[in-house]
Parts: sequence; C-alpha cells; structure tokens
Amino acid sequence: MPSDLPVIDMPFFHSLFDHVSDAIYIIDPFTSHIIEANTQGWNSLGMTRSELLNQSVLSLNKDVIGISQWAEISEAIKEAGNFIFVGRHKRKDGSDYPVEVRTNYFIHNDVPYFVSIARDITLRAQHEDDFHNDDTIRAFALNEASDGLWDWDLSDDSLFLSPQWYRMMGYGPHEIGNPTLETWSSAVHPDDFSRVTEMLQEHLLSKSSRYEAKYRLKNRNGDFIWVHDRGLVVKRDNDHQPLRMIGLVLDITQSQLLTEKLFHRSQRDDLTDLYNRKTGYELFGQYLNVSLQQGQPMQVIMLDIDNFKSINDKYGHQNGDKAIQHVANTVPKLIRKTDLLFRWGGEEFLLLFPDTAQNTAFELTKRLLIKLSKIPFLTDDKNEVFMTASAGISGCPNHGCSISELVKSADAAMFQAKAQGKDNVCIAEIFQR
Ligand code: GH3
Ligand code: MG
Ligand code: MG
Repeated sequence: MPSDLPVIDMPFFHSLFDHVSDAIYIIDPFTSHIIEANTQGWNSLGMTRSELLNQSVLSLNKDVIGISQWAEISEAIKEAGNFIFVGRHKRKDGSDYPVEVRTNYFIHNDVPYFVSIARDITLRAQHEDDFHNDDTIRAFALNEASDGLWDWDLSDDSLFLSPQWYRMMGYGPHEIGNPTLETWSSAVHPDDFSRVTEMLQEHLLSKSSRYEAKYRLKNRNGDFIWVHDRGLVVKRDNDHQPLRMIGLVLDITQSQLLTEKLFHRSQRDDLTDLYNRKTGYELFGQYLNVSLQQGQPMQVIMLDIDNFKSINDKYGHQNGDKAIQHVANTVPKLIRKTDLLFRWGGEEFLLLFPDTAQNTAFELTKRLLIKLSKIPFLTDDKNEVFMTASAGISGCPNHGCSISELVKSADAAMFQAKAQGKDNVCIAEIFQR
C-alpha cells in the first residue's frame, strides 16, 4: 500500500457509516432488536438514537407481524444469507413511506448479526406510478385515439397495427391474421405508391429526420381514404441499418376533400365552373412557356357572345346566366383535350390552342362558331334560344409572345369580327413593331 495514503481507522468507518444516505440497522437475529443504526436510520423514522435502539425491527413495519413469525424470518435470512423486503416503514408520527430493505447475515467475534439497509423508494414508487399512467396513456392511444398506430419489425417485415388502424380501414380487430408490410403497401393508392415509398426510403437511409406523407389507402370496401402518416426509425443496428420503425396514421379524408374543394373553388369561376381569370392567366403563362421552349406556335382566341345584352333584356338576367353557362358547357365538347378554355369576364371567353398553326386555329374556330350557333339553350320558360358568337385570333409568335400583346391583338380581332357583322372570326392584323 503506498505510504502517502491516509490510514483508515475505526472513526473513519464510523463517520462513513453515518454519511451513507440509506438507513442502516444492526439487528439481533434472536430478539429482532435494533442494536445499532446510522444517523439516517433514526432520522428517516423521525426518531432520536435512544428512541430507536432496542426497538424491535418489526415495529418499524407498517404491517407489524408478530414476534412468533420472527423466528421463521430469521431462520430464512440465515439460511439464504440475505433477504430483500419491499414494504413500508412507519415513522414515529405514524406516517409511512415505501422502502426496499436488504438484510444480510454476518458473524463477528462469534456473534451473529443482521445488517439491514433500508432505502427510501418514494421517488422510484412515484416513477412506477407514472409508468403505470404511461401504460394507461399507451392503452388509450392504441384503442381510443383517432390515430392508428403501426410498429414495423424490419427483420421479418412483420407489422403491428393498432385496433384504431383496423377501425380506420373498416376491418374487424382480428380480420387480418398476421399483417406484414405487404398488408400496408398493397393498400396504398398506385398513384401515390412511388412517392410514399421514396419518402419512407429516405428516412430509412437517414436522409430525412422523420417520415411523413399524405396519401390514399384502400379501405375494406375498396374506397380510398386520405391519410396523414408519420413515422420514425426507433432502432438501428451497429451498421446503422434500421431494425424497427413506429408511426401514427390519421384519417384526413374529410379535411382533404374540403381542401380540394376549396382549392377547386379558388381556381374556378362560380357561374361556369371554368377556370377563372386569375387561374387562366397562370395557365396562359405556362402554355406560353411550353410553346416558346418547344418552338411551337400557339393561338389565342377571344370569344364573345353576340347581342348578349338583348338576351338579358328579353329573358332576364337569370336566363342570361344560363346562356353563359350553356356556352361554357358546350365549347369544351367542341375543342381538343389539349386546348384550354376559361372565362375572361362577362360573356367573354378565352381559348388557347397550343401547338397549332394560325390557319388551323382559324378553321377550328369557324367550325366551333357554326356548331355553337346550332345548339340552342332552354330558358326557364322552355324557350329555345339560339346564340352566335364572334371570335378574334392572335398567335405567338406572329402577334407577340406576351399575354398582354396576345390578348390585345385577339381582342382587336374580335371587335373586327363584330364590325363585320358578328357570328364571325378574324385573325388579328400584324402591326409593324
Ligand atoms: P356584342 O354583340 O357587341 O358583344 O354586344 P353584347 O350585348 O353581347 O355585349 P355588351 O358588352 O354590350 O353587353 C354585355 C352584357 O353582358 C352587359 C352585362 O350586363 C352582361 N353581363 C356581364 N356579365 C354577366 C353575367 O355574369 N350574367 C349576365 N346575365 N349578364 C352579364
Ligand atoms: Mg357580347
Ligand atoms: Mg362583351
């Protein structure tokens, strides 16, 4: 032993004994009396040393057992060499607290002793209560919360799905025997599948801090519900390979439908359900970009109902609305799928013909006006009303390549068609710029 270390003497052990935070009791195995204790031993019971010494250790226990049982306990401790008791100790004032008592048997100078170390486990017991509450919360989350829970074991692809998951999908709790990842993946909408699996993959590869996706799942009836799915890898191996992932999935069908409806409404004109002017402008810009990038001509047609005012005057504003709706319903049936129609305002419409030469657009528009003039609409009083319209055509690049230039030219051409007697189509003049 190095000579510079302090010599550990008996007072040192005494001091040590008194500074241990657990209560220590030395007990006579025959009488059960406490023959010595450390400071914590009497403090924890709210007693003084003299009050504590010579008490039976049994009197500390909340549920005091008879002295007759002590012999049995004592024998058992001696035989096993040690004993653990978890119960409650009673203070002098009658209150009690939870303890874990570890008792060991030892012999010193031929005299047998028990040494009991009692640890106050109030905090631990509190944690256990919290833990129990956690269990309650977990059970609630699994059974009652609106989110479905999933737990994916990547080693065998097995999947735990909570009762709420089954409920959300219209299944009974035991309808799917042993769910696997396939149970889930086969229910994902084919149009969403690659996007969702890509997001999942990103998280599995640690490229994203968590997995989150909104997509459609096919329920038991074969209908698709919208879900918001979130998940996290909770266990990886030493090579950082994912082993376990858990997540929550929420049915968002209602809010998704509402969002879609609001989005649709924000893009559409209330009367005709055609794209409104704002969205039309945005799409116009996109169509123009494509045509410029691909070097394809694009034609713009301004269409205006002839003598519309007289329809309003003769049949009333409501039937005027019907006339506008009639044109909005009829024209899409007379144009190509790639063409775009939107309401410019009042009884004016704008048509875009991408990848179309000017002459072709002229012929298409002429035919469209003829057909339109032959399909009447019915007023509220069942009057058949025939309408004509006039159109003006401008084209990119002939009349410019900006929305304003093209609209201005098409508008001018439309007025020219009106001036020439209506029910007619004109191509805009090309001004020297
Ligand atoms: P032209 O042949 O020269 O185009 O004459 P018009 O009567 O068709 O055109 P004008 O511009 O003189 O009148 C258009 C009318 O359309 C004026 C306006 O009160 C009416 N109008 C605009 N928007 C609506 C609408 O949403 N519903 C109804 N019913 N009328 C509308
Ligand atoms: Mg008009
Ligand atoms: Mg007009």
